[in-house]
Amino acid sequence: MKVLVTGAAGYIGSITTEALLRAGHQVVALDNLDLGHRAAVHESATFVRADLRDRDALLAAFAAHRPDAVLHFAAYALVGESMQRPAAYFANNIAGACNLFDAMLAHDCRRFVFSSSCTVYGQPQQVPVTEDLPRVALNPYGASKIMVEEMAEWHARLSGLRTAILRYFNPAGASARYGEDHAPETHLIPLALAVAEGRLPQLTVFGTDYPTPDGTCIRDYIHVVDLAEAHIRALEALDAHELFAVNLGTGSGTSVLEVIESVRRVAGRALPVEYGPRRPGGADSAITYADPSLANELLHWRASRTLDDMVASAWAWRQRHPRGYDDGAQ
Ligand code: UDP
Repeated sequence: MKVLVTGAAGYIGSITTEALLRAGHQVVALDNLDLGHRAAVHESATFVRADLRDRDALLAAFAAHRPDAVLHFAAYALVGESMQRPAAYFANNIAGACNLFDAMLAHDCRRFVFSSSCTVYGQPQQVPVTEDLPRVALNPYGASKIMVEEMAEWHARLSGLRTAILRYFNPAGASARYGEDHAPETHLIPLALAVAEGRLPQLTVFGTDYPTPDGTCIRDYIHVVDLAEAHIRALEALDAHELFAVNLGTGSGTSVLEVIESVRRVAGRALPVEYGPRRPGGADSAITYADPSLANELLHWRASRTLDDMVASAWAWRQRHPRGYDDGAQ
């Protein structure tokens, strides 16, 4: 299949592109390189530099390449920033998706796999989180994910767009070639690795008074390569299923302190920690982990890699790319 991947120069887009090529698909890798990295685009993909907010550029890309399916990763994805710049989030994430749907329907491209997030559940009222829990927006980023899910659902009902909604829990780790290089970095595992490398002086643990065994938040970390493989399965599952939404997680939770222990163990380095208050905004739920059974069943897929695998792969990637993609190494 010829698959157009938006955000193909980003963290999850680049690693999913690699998995698609390995599975024998052709990839049109679309990215505006605003936050993505040209060096993260696999040489066997056809690269198109375009911005989703540029409707004409998008239509031209579809006319030129005629993809059979779209995997849509491109989006702004920082909760805190979305509270400061809501209009930018709506313009990029929502108006960009509108243009994408228009281009797909204009060119009869009817398979859509959407990069959604467990953020659509807000502060989930129960764990493990199942797909039938209500969608609750706690910030413009979450609102944008919910709106694009809803837009895709309407297009599925009204225009026959076959749609897979994939709600990621906490992606982490790297492939042998591609890794996580965000500026600014806000996520726990890359920040902990930066401290272990000595690039940052210490890691702040955001809150030790949560109602969990060690007082720190519990999340469901999933290896980015497991996640990438789930996208291939989702694309295949669209043959049999017109519209579905599934959680992508491991089904087990890990606390912030357990992540820190894993980084210390794998990297074999000191990792100075400061215990701070809860993260500003107050939106961090104490415990979030997926019930992945629907994904296991529909996609014939299961996350198989451990937390130590995630940390070890991310650590290895950082060792090879000490300055991220800016070092020019492949
Ligand atoms: N966290 C932390 N210190 C940091 C970054 C994150 O204690 O410097 C915590 C955060 O409060 C959350 C967990 O680590 O409980 C995972 O945070 P991340 O931002 O990686 O993902 P989120 O679950 O917020 O999407």
